[in-house]
Amino acid sequence: MAIATINPVTGEVVKTFEALTGAEIKHKIDLAQSQFLQFRSIPMGQRAEWLSKAANILEQERDRFGQLMTLEMGKPLKAAIAEVNKCAAVCRFYAKNAAAFLADVPIQTDASISFVRYQPLGVILAVMPWNFPFWQVFRFAAPALMAGNVGLLKHASNVPQSALAIEEVLTRAGFPTGAFQTLLVGADQVAAIVEDDRVKAATLTGSEPAGASLAAIAGKHLKKVVLELGGSDPFIVMPSADLDQAVKTAVTARMINNGQSCIAAKRFIVAEAIADQFIDRLVEQYKALKVGDPMLPDTDIGPLATPGILKDLDQQVQTSIQQGAKVLIGGESLRDQPGNFYLPTILAEIPKGCLAEYDEFFGPVALVFREPDLESAIARANDSPFGLGASAWTQDPTERDRLIEEIESGSVFINGMVKSDMKLPFGGIKRSGFGRELGREGILEFVNIKTVWAK
Ligand code: NAP
Repeated sequence: MAIATINPVTGEVVKTFEALTGAEIKHKIDLAQSQFLQFRSIPMGQRAEWLSKAANILEQERDRFGQLMTLEMGKPLKAAIAEVNKCAAVCRFYAKNAAAFLADVPIQTDASISFVRYQPLGVILAVMPWNFPFWQVFRFAAPALMAGNVGLLKHASNVPQSALAIEEVLTRAGFPTGAFQTLLVGADQVAAIVEDDRVKAATLTGSEPAGASLAAIAGKHLKKVVLELGGSDPFIVMPSADLDQAVKTAVTARMINNGQSCIAAKRFIVAEAIADQFIDRLVEQYKALKVGDPMLPDTDIGPLATPGILKDLDQQVQTSIQQGAKVLIGGESLRDQPGNFYLPTILAEIPKGCLAEYDEFFGPVALVFREPDLESAIARANDSPFGLGASAWTQDPTERDRLIEEIESGSVFINGMVKSDMKLPFGGIKRSGFGRELGREGILEFVNIKTVWAK
C-alpha cells in the first residue's frame, strides 16, 4: 500500500511519501536506543511537563489537527476536533497520575525490605490504525513516555501527515530527539523492526491478520506484544430498558466514526417482546442521518477511509443478502458521486450460518437479531470469535448482574455505550487481542515489574 494522503471524499491523491530505506530505519532505531539511555533517568516531573505542553499544543491547534484527520480518513470534522481534545486529556491524565501508578509497592516478606519497582523496557514499536489517527497513538505514547520508554510509530499508510504531525507535537513540547519518532514505512517493513535487538516490545492496534503476523515475529524473538484487534460488539436490549435512550444510543454506538470503530456496537440483540418497536424506531432514526462531506458541520456520516474498505463492506452486505438476510434500509454505496460513501444500513432476519453472525462489519451497518429471553441473548452475544466490549440495556438488577458476570468481553457497559475512558483499562479477549491500554493497567504493559528483596 502506498504511503499517501488520498482524500476519501474525492479520491484525489493529495500527497505521497517515500517509505524509509533499511538504512534510514536503522539510523532511527540507533537514535531511539541512544536516547533511551538518557531518557530513562530523566525525572518524572520533567517528562510530565513536556506531556502537559503537548496537551497545550493539541488544544491550541485542535482545528488544524482535526482538519488533517478528516482530510486523510473522512471522519466528521467535529468528531476529529473532539478526538484532539481527548488526546490532550490523556496527556494530562498520565502527566498527573504516572508517578502514583509507578510508585514502588512495598510488600512484607521474610526480607528486611521488599518491594516492587517499575522500570522502563526501552524502545517500543507501535503499529497503529487509521480510524482514530491521533487517539490511538496518544493513548500509547502518553503512558509509554511517562514510564521512561521511547517510542517508534508505524502508522497506517493512509494517514502519513497525521503521523508526522504527532511527532511534531511531541518534539515541539520538548521531548528530546529520538524519544518519539514516526517511521514512514509499509507493513512489509515491520518484521525487520521487530527483529532488531534494540526494540524491546511492540503494540499493534488493527486487524486480526496484522496482529497475528506481528505476534508471530515477536514470539519468535521472545518479545512482548499488546494486541488491540477487531470486535463485533453486542448491544443487548431487554424489555425493561429505557427504549428512547437505547435506540438513540444504538444509532450513535453504531455510527461513530462513520461506523469504523473497533468498539462500535455491531450486533443488536433485542428481546422479542420489544423487537418490533426497537427496530421500527432504529429505522426511523437511520433515515434522518445525513451522509456527506465530513468537513460540513451538519454531516453525520462521512466516507469510509479507503476504496478497499468500501468494497469489503459492500461484499459482506451482498453476501449476507444472498445468504438470506433482509435489508431494512440502505444496503449499497452512494453510486452517483465519487468517494467511499456507504448508506447507513440495517440487516435483519440473519439466518444461521450467515457470515453476518460472526464477521466484523467495519462501516455503518447494523446487524439485528431477535432473542426470546436473557439466556439466549447472552448466548448469542457470546457466540462470537471476538470479545472486545458489550453494551446491555435493562432496568432489572438481576438481569444486570447476570450480564456483568456472564458476558465474555473486555468490558461491559450497562445502560450506556461502550467507550474508551482513560481512567479505565481498555482491551479485549478471544480474537479481539490481549493486553490493556489506558488506566493503571495500560502503563504497566511496557515496564519491567522488578521484585526487590533485601536483608
Ligand atoms: P490493519 O490493516 O491491520 O492496519 C493496522 C496497522 O497494521 C496499519 O499500520 C497497517 O499498516 C499495519 N499492518 C497491516 N498488516 C500488517 C502486517 N502483516 N504486519 C505488520 N503490520 C501490519 O487494520 P485496518 O483494517 O486498517 O483497521 C481496522 C481494524 O482495526 C478493525 O478490525 C478494527 O476493529 C481494528 N481496531 C481495533 C481497535 C482496538 O482498540 N481493539 C481500535 C481500532 C481499530 P498499513 O496501513 O501500511 O497496511
